[in-house]
Amino acid sequence: MIDLRSDTVTRPTPGMLEAMFTAKVGDDVFRDDPTVNALEDKAAKLFGMEAALFCPSGTMTNQIAINVHTHPGDEVICHKYSHVYFYEGGGMMRNSGVSVRLLEGDQGLIKASDVAANINPDDVHRPVTKLVEVENTMNKGGGACYPYVDLLEIRAVCDANNLQLHLDGARLFNALVATGTTPADFGAIFDSISICLSKGLGAPVGSLLLGNQVFVNKARRVRKVLGGGMRQAGYLAAAGIYALDHNIDRLIEDHKKAQYLGKVLESSPYVESVLPVETNILIFTLTDRYTEKEFIAALNKNDIYAASTGPQAVRFVTHLDFTEEMLGRVEEVLRTF
Ligand SMILES: *Cc1c(COP(=O)(O)O)cnc(C)c1O
Repeated sequence: MIDLRSDTVTRPTPGMLEAMFTAKVGDDVFRDDPTVNALEDKAAKLFGMEAALFCPSGTMTNQIAINVHTHPGDEVICHKYSHVYFYEGGGMMRNSGVSVRLLEGDQGLIKASDVAANINPDDVHRPVTKLVEVENTMNKGGGACYPYVDLLEIRAVCDANNLQLHLDGARLFNALVATGTTPADFGAIFDSISICLSKGLGAPVGSLLLGNQVFVNKARRVRKVLGGGMRQAGYLAAAGIYALDHNIDRLIEDHKKAQYLGKVLESSPYVESVLPVETNILIFTLTDRYTEKEFIAALNKNDIYAASTGPQAVRFVTHLDFTEEMLGRVEEVLRTF
């Protein structure tokens, strides 16, 4: 089976499993798990931030961040295709009772000028704008990365208007590798950052929420309320530490494979367009020769799996378990259609 539906489908490698088996654990709700503590410390240091919180999922880290930064009735500014709005089950409205201001923007990336134009005036009729959220890489934007200067400009607008700035960095490490930026560059300009260990980094479970100590203390309370306090979670944290130590630099391999497949698709007669491939996500649209359902079904017959992202749109995501040999096989199949 060749699974290109997502980079979440990876299985732990023998090295990662060994790290998990040998982890020292304790009850993390009592703060007694040395491996969870080590992972949180390691991540905070890496980003130059004060503290981090280990959570079961990236949806939870995003939801906690929004909850800590806002009060019910406040407004959050984000892209209309952002994961926090589009793919979290309406969570921010439900868990935090916030209002949302949705921005347009190419490949899911928002601009400082657009943020500035959508901050509500101090008027009793209007919700209080409190938080700006950006996603990097941008999933529905085909894994697009923010130019760092654009983020500096968004930070400046937030500073001038007393707004908090949250980063959904589920695939931030892909952006770092693709743009030559560092975790500390991001730690320096965001009030909170969510990163996933279970996407390109290959851990089976887990995300981290980073921020200052006051923020993370509040986040720990919200995690408990949401049922996210885990006990001997060190077995999972060990996988996360292993992922941070071993699986960041190799992301470039995933990007090269996605770019290669992008070229194959660009020269295929049944492909209408391919979004620029910056990282490990490849989104393309089909001509009327196939619907996306027919196309994916034809791939499935060849034991290749992909996801649809809308009418005529198909997504491939490359990852740790997608080998050179599989790449060759996918190319071969794509050329037969
Ligand atoms: C996957 C993802 C998340 C978190 O998803 P979980 O499945 O809850 O871990 C958040 N943001 C983006 C952009 C994602 O792709």
